[in-house]
Amino acid sequence: MQSIYNLTRNKLQEYILSINEKKYRSEQIFDWLYKKRVRSFNDMSNLNINIIDNLNKDYAIDDIKIVKKEIANDVIKYLFELEDKNKIEAVIMFHNYGNSLCISTQVGCNMGCVFCESGKRKKDRNLTTSEMVLQILKVEQDSNIRISHVVLMGIGEPFDNFDNVMDFINIINDQKGIEIGIRHITISTCGIVPKIKDLINENIQVNLAISLHAPNNKLRNELMPINKIYDIDLLIKTVKEYVDETNRKVTFEYILIDNLNDSIENALELSKLIKGINCYVNLIPYNETSDDKYKRSKNIDKFMNILKQNKINVRLRREFGSNISAACGQLRSTN
Ligand code: SAH
Repeated sequence: MQSIYNLTRNKLQEYILSINEKKYRSEQIFDWLYKKRVRSFNDMSNLNINIIDNLNKDYAIDDIKIVKKEIANDVIKYLFELEDKNKIEAVIMFHNYGNSLCISTQVGCNMGCVFCESGKRKKDRNLTTSEMVLQILKVEQDSNIRISHVVLMGIGEPFDNFDNVMDFINIINDQKGIEIGIRHITISTCGIVPKIKDLINENIQVNLAISLHAPNNKLRNELMPINKIYDIDLLIKTVKEYVDETNRKVTFEYILIDNLNDSIENALELSKLIKGINCYVNLIPYNETSDDKYKRSKNIDKFMNILKQNKINVRLRREFGSNISAACGQLRSTN
Protein backbone atom coordinates (compact mmCIF):
# COMPACT_ATOMS: atom_id res chain seq x y z
CA MET A 1 0.00 0.00 0.00
CA GLN A 2 1.19 3.49 -0.80
CA SER A 3 2.36 5.65 2.10
CA ILE A 4 0.39 8.77 2.96
CA TYR A 5 3.73 10.57 3.47
CA ASN A 6 4.37 10.22 -0.27
CA LEU A 7 1.67 12.76 -1.06
CA THR A 8 2.19 16.47 -1.49
CA ARG A 9 -0.83 18.51 -0.44
CA ASN A 10 -1.82 18.90 -4.10
CA LYS A 11 -1.73 15.16 -4.65
CA LEU A 12 -3.70 14.59 -1.48
CA GLN A 13 -6.23 17.13 -2.67
CA GLU A 14 -6.71 15.21 -5.92
CA TYR A 15 -7.34 12.07 -3.93
CA ILE A 16 -9.80 13.79 -1.63
CA LEU A 17 -11.74 15.13 -4.62
CA SER A 18 -11.71 11.65 -6.14
CA ILE A 19 -13.59 10.30 -3.11
CA ASN A 20 -16.12 13.12 -3.44
CA GLU A 21 -14.98 15.13 -0.47
CA LYS A 22 -14.11 18.81 -0.12
CA LYS A 23 -10.66 20.14 -0.86
CA TYR A 24 -10.06 21.64 2.59
CA ARG A 25 -9.99 18.12 4.03
CA SER A 26 -6.46 17.72 2.70
CA GLU A 27 -5.38 20.62 4.92
CA GLN A 28 -6.91 18.93 7.91
CA ILE A 29 -5.11 15.70 7.10
CA PHE A 30 -1.81 17.52 6.69
CA ASP A 31 -2.39 19.17 10.04
CA TRP A 32 -2.85 15.80 11.72
CA LEU A 33 0.15 14.26 10.00
CA TYR A 34 2.67 17.06 10.26
CA LYS A 35 1.58 19.41 13.04
CA LYS A 36 -0.12 17.04 15.48
CA ARG A 37 1.88 14.07 14.22
CA VAL A 38 -0.75 11.41 14.83
CA ARG A 39 -0.02 7.89 13.62
CA SER A 40 -3.52 6.62 12.85
CA PHE A 41 -6.26 7.84 10.52
CA ASN A 42 -8.76 6.88 13.21
CA ASP A 43 -7.32 9.59 15.48
CA MET A 44 -8.13 12.33 12.94
CA SER A 45 -11.23 13.32 14.85
CA ASN A 46 -12.49 16.14 12.65
CA LEU A 47 -12.76 13.90 9.55
CA ASN A 48 -15.93 12.06 8.63
CA ILE A 49 -16.23 8.30 8.47
CA ASN A 50 -16.18 8.20 4.67
CA ILE A 51 -12.76 9.86 4.56
CA ILE A 52 -11.32 7.76 7.37
CA ASP A 53 -12.55 4.52 5.78
CA ASN A 54 -11.13 5.47 2.42
CA LEU A 55 -7.79 6.49 3.88
CA ASN A 56 -7.57 3.21 5.78
CA LYS A 57 -8.34 1.33 2.60
CA ASP A 58 -5.95 3.19 0.29
CA TYR A 59 -3.04 4.46 2.37
CA ALA A 60 -0.64 3.33 5.06
CA ILE A 61 0.93 5.47 7.76
CA ASP A 62 4.22 3.70 7.42
CA ASP A 63 7.33 3.88 9.55
CA ILE A 64 11.10 3.50 9.53
CA LYS A 65 12.89 2.03 12.51
CA ILE A 66 15.74 3.58 14.47
CA VAL A 67 18.22 0.75 14.93
CA LYS A 68 21.16 2.72 16.24
CA LYS A 69 21.82 6.19 17.58
CA GLU A 70 25.26 7.61 18.24
CA ILE A 71 25.78 10.86 20.08
CA ALA A 72 28.86 13.07 19.87
CA ASN A 73 29.11 16.62 21.17
CA ASP A 74 28.13 18.29 17.92
CA VAL A 75 26.11 15.63 16.11
CA ILE A 76 23.69 12.77 16.55
CA LYS A 77 23.81 10.01 13.95
CA TYR A 78 20.86 7.74 13.32
CA LEU A 79 20.90 4.41 11.55
CA PHE A 80 17.46 3.51 10.21
CA GLU A 81 16.05 0.25 8.98
CA LEU A 82 13.50 0.55 6.19
CA GLU A 83 10.57 -1.76 5.69
CA ASP A 84 12.53 -3.95 3.26
CA LYS A 85 15.40 -4.17 5.83
CA ASN A 86 17.69 -1.86 3.88
CA LYS A 87 19.57 0.60 6.03
CA ILE A 88 20.27 4.32 5.68
CA GLU A 89 21.72 7.06 7.88
CA ALA A 90 20.82 10.61 8.84
CA VAL A 91 22.79 13.07 10.97
CA ILE A 92 21.69 16.03 13.09
CA MET A 93 24.24 18.83 13.26
CA PHE A 94 24.01 21.56 15.89
CA HIS A 95 24.81 25.02 14.52
CA ASN A 96 24.53 28.41 16.17
CA TYR A 97 21.79 29.26 13.64
CA GLY A 98 19.72 26.11 14.19
CA ASN A 99 19.71 22.35 13.89
CA SER A 100 20.34 20.89 10.54
CA LEU A 101 19.50 17.35 9.42
CA CYS A 102 21.59 15.66 6.75
CA ILE A 103 19.35 13.10 5.09
CA SER A 104 19.88 10.21 2.68
CA THR A 105 18.10 10.04 -0.67
CA GLN A 106 19.00 6.54 -1.91
CA VAL A 107 20.03 3.12 -0.63
CA GLY A 108 23.64 3.04 -1.83
CA CYS A 109 24.78 5.29 -4.70
CA ASN A 110 25.79 4.72 -8.33
CA MET A 111 27.94 7.78 -8.84
CA GLY A 112 31.14 5.97 -7.91
CA CYS A 113 33.19 8.94 -6.66
CA VAL A 114 36.47 7.30 -5.71
CA PHE A 115 36.91 9.06 -2.38
CA CYS A 116 33.43 8.48 -0.94
CA GLU A 117 32.33 5.74 1.43
CA SER A 118 28.65 5.98 0.55
CA GLY A 119 29.27 4.87 -3.02
CA LYS A 120 31.07 1.67 -2.02
CA ARG A 121 27.69 0.03 -2.17
CA LYS A 122 25.95 0.29 -5.54
CA LYS A 123 22.52 1.77 -5.55
CA ASP A 124 19.85 -0.69 -4.52
CA ARG A 125 16.98 1.66 -5.01
CA ASN A 126 15.74 5.20 -4.62
CA LEU A 127 14.19 6.24 -1.35
CA THR A 128 10.51 7.03 -1.57
CA THR A 129 9.32 10.49 -0.64
CA SER A 130 7.90 8.96 2.51
CA GLU A 131 11.24 7.49 3.57
CA MET A 132 12.80 10.94 3.31
CA VAL A 133 9.97 12.64 5.18
CA LEU A 134 10.14 9.99 7.88
CA GLN A 135 13.82 10.67 8.53
CA ILE A 136 12.77 14.11 9.78
CA LEU A 137 9.68 12.96 11.66
CA LYS A 138 11.53 10.15 13.45
CA VAL A 139 14.52 12.25 14.41
CA GLU A 140 12.33 15.05 15.77
CA GLN A 141 10.21 12.63 17.73
CA ASP A 142 13.16 10.71 19.14
CA SER A 143 15.36 13.67 20.05
CA ASN A 144 12.74 16.29 20.82
CA ILE A 145 14.85 18.63 18.70
CA ARG A 146 13.22 20.87 16.12
CA ILE A 147 14.96 20.56 12.77
CA SER A 148 15.27 24.00 11.16
CA HIS A 149 17.52 23.15 8.20
CA VAL A 150 17.74 20.16 5.87
CA VAL A 151 20.67 19.21 3.66
CA LEU A 152 20.38 16.44 1.08
CA MET A 153 23.94 15.35 1.61
CA GLY A 154 23.60 11.90 3.10
CA ILE A 155 23.81 8.66 1.15
CA GLY A 156 22.78 8.93 -2.49
CA GLU A 157 22.62 11.37 -5.37
CA PRO A 158 19.45 13.49 -4.99
CA PHE A 159 19.31 14.27 -8.72
CA ASP A 160 19.27 10.54 -9.48
CA ASN A 161 15.95 10.50 -7.57
CA PHE A 162 14.60 13.81 -8.81
CA ASP A 163 10.81 13.40 -8.63
CA ASN A 164 10.71 11.92 -5.15
CA VAL A 165 13.13 14.57 -3.94
CA MET A 166 10.97 17.38 -5.37
CA ASP A 167 7.86 16.01 -3.65
CA PHE A 168 9.84 15.66 -0.43
CA ILE A 169 10.94 19.29 -0.59
CA ASN A 170 7.38 20.36 -1.35
CA ILE A 171 6.04 18.55 1.74
CA ILE A 172 8.68 19.70 4.20
CA ASN A 173 8.45 23.27 2.95
CA ASP A 174 4.62 23.38 2.96
CA GLN A 175 3.22 25.72 5.61
CA LYS A 176 0.67 23.09 6.47
CA GLY A 177 3.41 20.45 6.41
CA ILE A 178 6.71 20.38 8.28
CA GLU A 179 7.27 24.03 7.41
CA ILE A 180 11.00 24.26 6.88
CA GLY A 181 11.91 27.46 5.03
CA ILE A 182 12.86 26.83 1.42
CA ARG A 183 16.11 28.76 1.87
CA HIS A 184 16.93 26.42 4.71
CA ILE A 185 16.97 23.43 2.36
CA THR A 186 20.09 22.51 0.38
CA ILE A 187 20.39 20.00 -2.44
CA SER A 188 23.87 18.75 -3.20
CA THR A 189 24.73 17.13 -6.53
CA CYS A 190 27.81 15.62 -8.13
CA GLY A 191 26.76 17.40 -11.32
CA ILE A 192 23.90 15.76 -13.23
CA VAL A 193 23.52 18.60 -15.70
CA PRO A 194 19.99 17.95 -17.10
CA LYS A 195 18.63 17.88 -13.58
CA ILE A 196 20.20 21.24 -12.77
CA LYS A 197 18.17 22.53 -15.72
CA ASP A 198 15.08 20.80 -14.38
CA LEU A 199 15.66 22.50 -11.05
CA ILE A 200 15.70 25.89 -12.80
CA ASN A 201 12.24 25.05 -14.18
CA GLU A 202 10.92 24.08 -10.76
CA ASN A 203 11.21 27.73 -9.86
CA ILE A 204 11.94 27.19 -6.17
CA GLN A 205 14.36 29.08 -3.97
CA VAL A 206 16.14 26.03 -2.62
CA ASN A 207 19.94 26.18 -2.17
CA LEU A 208 22.08 24.32 -4.66
CA ALA A 209 25.51 22.90 -3.87
CA ILE A 210 27.77 21.39 -6.51
CA SER A 211 30.35 18.79 -5.52
CA LEU A 212 33.19 20.00 -7.72
CA HIS A 213 36.37 18.67 -6.08
CA ALA A 214 38.62 19.29 -9.07
CA PRO A 215 39.31 22.29 -11.31
CA ASN A 216 39.87 20.48 -14.62
CA ASN A 217 38.59 17.53 -16.61
CA LYS A 218 41.66 15.38 -16.28
CA LEU A 219 41.56 15.34 -12.51
CA ARG A 220 37.79 15.34 -12.21
CA ASN A 221 37.53 12.36 -14.56
CA GLU A 222 39.79 10.44 -12.20
CA LEU A 223 37.80 11.33 -9.11
CA MET A 224 34.21 11.49 -10.29
CA PRO A 225 32.98 9.24 -13.14
CA ILE A 226 30.00 11.55 -13.73
CA ASN A 227 32.47 14.02 -15.25
CA LYS A 228 32.90 11.70 -18.23
CA ILE A 229 29.24 12.22 -19.05
CA TYR A 230 28.84 15.89 -18.11
CA ASP A 231 32.24 17.49 -18.23
CA ILE A 232 33.39 20.45 -16.23
CA ASP A 233 32.82 23.04 -18.98
CA LEU A 234 29.24 21.96 -19.47
CA LEU A 235 28.74 21.84 -15.71
CA ILE A 236 30.06 25.35 -15.15
CA LYS A 237 28.06 26.68 -18.09
CA THR A 238 24.90 25.17 -16.63
CA VAL A 239 25.65 26.51 -13.17
CA LYS A 240 25.99 29.98 -14.70
CA GLU A 241 22.60 29.55 -16.32
CA TYR A 242 21.18 28.47 -12.98
CA VAL A 243 22.58 31.54 -11.23
CA ASP A 244 21.33 33.86 -13.98
CA GLU A 245 17.86 32.39 -14.13
CA THR A 246 17.24 31.97 -10.42
CA ASN A 247 19.26 34.83 -8.99
CA ARG A 248 20.51 32.40 -6.39
CA LYS A 249 24.04 32.00 -5.20
CA VAL A 250 25.48 28.50 -5.62
CA THR A 251 27.94 26.69 -3.43
CA PHE A 252 30.85 24.74 -4.82
CA GLU A 253 32.08 22.02 -2.53
CA TYR A 254 35.73 21.14 -2.78
CA ILE A 255 37.27 18.38 -0.69
CA LEU A 256 40.94 18.87 -0.10
CA ILE A 257 42.86 15.61 -0.50
CA ASP A 258 46.57 15.40 0.17
CA ASN A 259 48.69 15.64 -2.94
CA LEU A 260 45.80 15.08 -5.27
CA ASN A 261 43.75 18.24 -5.78
CA ASP A 262 45.30 20.63 -3.24
CA SER A 263 48.23 22.23 -5.06
CA ILE A 264 48.75 25.93 -5.66
CA GLU A 265 48.11 25.35 -9.38
CA ASN A 266 44.82 23.68 -8.53
CA ALA A 267 43.80 26.68 -6.43
CA LEU A 268 44.68 29.09 -9.22
CA GLU A 269 42.86 26.98 -11.77
CA LEU A 270 39.80 26.79 -9.55
CA SER A 271 39.80 30.56 -9.05
CA LYS A 272 39.89 31.10 -12.78
CA LEU A 273 37.20 28.53 -13.48
CA ILE A 274 34.60 30.10 -11.22
CA LYS A 275 35.59 33.74 -11.43
CA GLY A 276 32.58 36.00 -11.81
CA ILE A 277 30.03 33.39 -10.71
CA ASN A 278 27.88 34.43 -7.75
CA CYS A 279 29.07 31.64 -5.48
CA TYR A 280 30.72 30.40 -2.34
CA VAL A 281 33.39 27.79 -2.20
CA ASN A 282 33.09 25.42 0.70
CA LEU A 283 36.43 23.79 1.35
CA ILE A 284 36.03 20.43 3.05
CA PRO A 285 38.95 18.81 4.83
CA TYR A 286 38.93 15.22 3.57
CA ASN A 287 37.41 12.78 6.06
CA GLU A 288 39.26 9.53 6.08
CA THR A 289 37.25 6.45 5.15
CA SER A 290 37.83 2.70 5.18
CA ASP A 291 40.03 3.27 2.13
CA ASP A 292 43.41 4.59 3.31
CA LYS A 293 44.52 5.63 -0.17
CA TYR A 294 43.46 9.23 0.41
CA LYS A 295 44.67 11.53 3.16
CA ARG A 296 43.65 14.90 4.45
CA SER A 297 45.42 17.82 2.77
CA LYS A 298 48.20 19.63 4.61
CA ASN A 299 47.75 22.61 2.36
CA ILE A 300 44.35 23.88 3.47
CA ASP A 301 45.39 27.38 4.56
CA LYS A 302 47.48 28.04 1.47
CA PHE A 303 44.74 26.83 -0.84
CA MET A 304 42.20 29.00 0.91
CA ASN A 305 44.43 32.07 0.77
CA ILE A 306 44.88 31.78 -2.96
CA LEU A 307 41.14 31.75 -3.45
CA LYS A 308 40.80 34.77 -1.17
CA GLN A 309 43.48 36.66 -3.06
CA ASN A 310 41.45 36.00 -6.19
CA LYS A 311 38.35 37.46 -4.55
CA ILE A 312 36.50 34.17 -4.31
CA ASN A 313 34.10 33.83 -1.36
CA VAL A 314 35.53 30.89 0.46
CA ARG A 315 34.86 29.19 3.76
CA LEU A 316 36.18 26.15 5.48
CA ARG A 317 33.43 23.72 6.32
CA ARG A 318 33.15 23.21 10.03
CA GLU A 319 33.81 19.63 10.82
CA PHE A 320 31.23 17.45 12.36
CA GLY A 321 31.14 14.01 13.75
CA SER A 322 34.17 12.40 12.16
CA ASN A 323 34.84 10.52 15.43
CA ILE A 324 31.60 8.60 14.94
CA SER A 325 31.90 8.39 11.12
CA ALA A 326 29.05 10.81 10.71
CA ALA A 327 30.91 13.24 8.48
CA CYS A 328 30.62 13.92 4.73
CA GLY A 329 31.49 10.88 2.71
CA GLN A 330 31.49 8.55 5.71
CA LEU A 331 27.84 7.54 5.72
CA ARG A 332 27.04 4.01 4.68
CA SER A 333 24.12 1.77 4.01
CA THR A 334 25.42 -0.87 6.40
CA ASN A 335 26.16 -0.95 10.12
N1 SAH B 1 25.68 12.88 -4.19
C1 SAH B 1 25.56 14.21 -3.73
C2 SAH B 1 25.15 14.28 -2.28
C3 SAH B 1 26.18 13.75 -1.30
S1 SAH B 1 26.80 15.12 -0.47
C4 SAH B 1 26.83 14.97 -4.02
O1 SAH B 1 27.76 14.37 -4.54
O2 SAH B 1 26.87 16.17 -3.82
C5 SAH B 1 28.19 14.54 0.33
C6 SAH B 1 29.36 15.46 0.14
O3 SAH B 1 30.49 14.92 0.83
C7 SAH B 1 29.74 15.56 -1.31
O4 SAH B 1 30.22 16.84 -1.60
C8 SAH B 1 30.84 14.54 -1.38
O5 SAH B 1 31.65 14.72 -2.50
C9 SAH B 1 31.55 14.80 -0.07
N2 SAH B 1 32.43 13.71 0.36
C10 SAH B 1 32.43 12.44 -0.07
N3 SAH B 1 33.40 11.74 0.54
C11 SAH B 1 34.02 12.59 1.38
C12 SAH B 1 35.08 12.43 2.30
N4 SAH B 1 35.66 11.26 2.48
N5 SAH B 1 35.45 13.52 3.02
C13 SAH B 1 34.82 14.70 2.86
N6 SAH B 1 33.80 14.89 2.02
C14 SAH B 1 33.40 13.85 1.28
